[in-house]
Amino acid sequence: MAKEKVAQLSESYFVNNSFIKRNREIIPIVNPSTLENIGNIPILHDSDVIDAIDSAVAALKGWGALSASNRSKLLTDWHDLILENQNLLAEILVLEQGKPFLEAQKEIIYGAGFIKWFAAEAEKLSGYIAEGTKENQKIMLEYEPVGVVAAITPWNFPSAMITRKIAPAIAAGCTIVLKPSELTPFSALALAELAKKANIPAGVLNIITGKAEQIGKIFAEDFRIRKLSFTGSSRVGKILYENSALTLKKLSLELGGNAPFIVFEDANLELAASHLLLSKLRNMGQACIAPNRIFLHNNIHDKFLSFITDKFNNIKVGDGNNQSVNAGPLINKQALDKLERLIADAVTKGAKVLIGGSKATTYFDKDDNEVTASLEQNFFLPTILVNCTNDMNIFHEEIFGPILAIYKFESIDDVIKQANNTQYGLASYIFTQSTSLAFKVSSELDFGIVGINEGIISNNIGAFGGRKDSGFGVEGSKLGILEFLNTKYICLNYQII
Ligand code: ADP
Repeated sequence: MAKEKVAQLSESYFVNNSFIKRNREIIPIVNPSTLENIGNIPILHDSDVIDAIDSAVAALKGWGALSASNRSKLLTDWHDLILENQNLLAEILVLEQGKPFLEAQKEIIYGAGFIKWFAAEAEKLSGYIAEGTKENQKIMLEYEPVGVVAAITPWNFPSAMITRKIAPAIAAGCTIVLKPSELTPFSALALAELAKKANIPAGVLNIITGKAEQIGKIFAEDFRIRKLSFTGSSRVGKILYENSALTLKKLSLELGGNAPFIVFEDANLELAASHLLLSKLRNMGQACIAPNRIFLHNNIHDKFLSFITDKFNNIKVGDGNNQSVNAGPLINKQALDKLERLIADAVTKGAKVLIGGSKATTYFDKDDNEVTASLEQNFFLPTILVNCTNDMNIFHEEIFGPILAIYKFESIDDVIKQANNTQYGLASYIFTQSTSLAFKVSSELDFGIVGINEGIISNNIGAFGGRKDSGFGVEGSKLGILEFLNTKYICLNYQII
């Protein structure tokens, strides 16, 4: 089913509620498990991109003028269709991204949750009316949609990163042009097809494909786009920030992370270990909130490691279509090269590989046969590195892979200092049974998100957002919709003259 759907969506893009196929150059899309070609996407010309923006501009007035309850109803219908089609959507996700099917299905449900959440938030938006500074005067504040939105999304969560942007944008009354990652475009196109089925009007949601740099530049420089929402690397976030200066558009930048995961000596170690594994191995560690630096108190270091090594030895790596597999492939060769480079550097500087440490030589295929991995395949062994120190590259760079880099600490002040010793500021995690210690450390961590005795922090209710090189802006929560709204202050003099 998924293969046929992808074949049907192949070489098309979605503008004005039509799947358009033109004679354009293509980018081939591969299944990262098998490396088979599953379809292609067109490389749009500048004029195609402008057509998509035109379509969003044309739809803006009508969409913004709909009542919030009508917009909410359409979003709810879209949400319901996604849940009805969750298996197909999850299969498409596995095909293009590689993660295990059950994880993909969770992503579809989690992603749909943003649509439901923002359908409700649309109806709750309210400004205020206050007394003025003199008689017969009222001060009013209302919200208006910011206008046409552009969005650029990554490959690690090809469905949820899309709904997390589209839902608040269109709930707020904006229209949107979105460019998914060129590695995982079909989840986005399949979601668009369902949006059309849910009767979301033409032009409200447009999905385009092609060369990232070219499209990013057009988005940034087009004055009609009033908001750009980006999830991806800090490097590209900074380019978009700079290029958007001339049009002074509103920006949300969800960039990289370098999450500390701190286990104090009074922590419930079993709980901490199970949360660490869930949080780290989700998507093979390819997540910006994945624990990147594991700080263990000296007194519990060995005991904690004994919990995780057992669990690490039971991880089965393979094709996401095999239901007994719990870790898929890395997205591509660059991802694998980076892990090898980080491990080599760490080992040279004194780290020790406790488990894994290299590319997997075998993996389980979709029929559960253990087969030899080819040179080109990118399955990686879940890895534990001990004796890590802050002079290693792995301390400073986002790993984006299944490596647990373990550091020891002695004092509370030292571990806070070490945790904050990074340019990033997205997620952080603390495990302790002391409430006062948890609050002290939480207040001193320079990160936008703190998980306390909790490793699974992504949901639609929390305010997801970072600081420093992790960017700015918030997704999800009550605040997420504000990113797509302008305020208007009205000063009314109602003196009858
Ligand atoms: P990653 O390294 O995780 O792939 P990127 O920041 O390169 O992160 O990619 C995230 C998204 O940004 C993808 O959709 C990608 O196509 C897009 N992208 C990459 N380079 C640029 C660029 N120069 N301008 C705009 N978008 C870009």
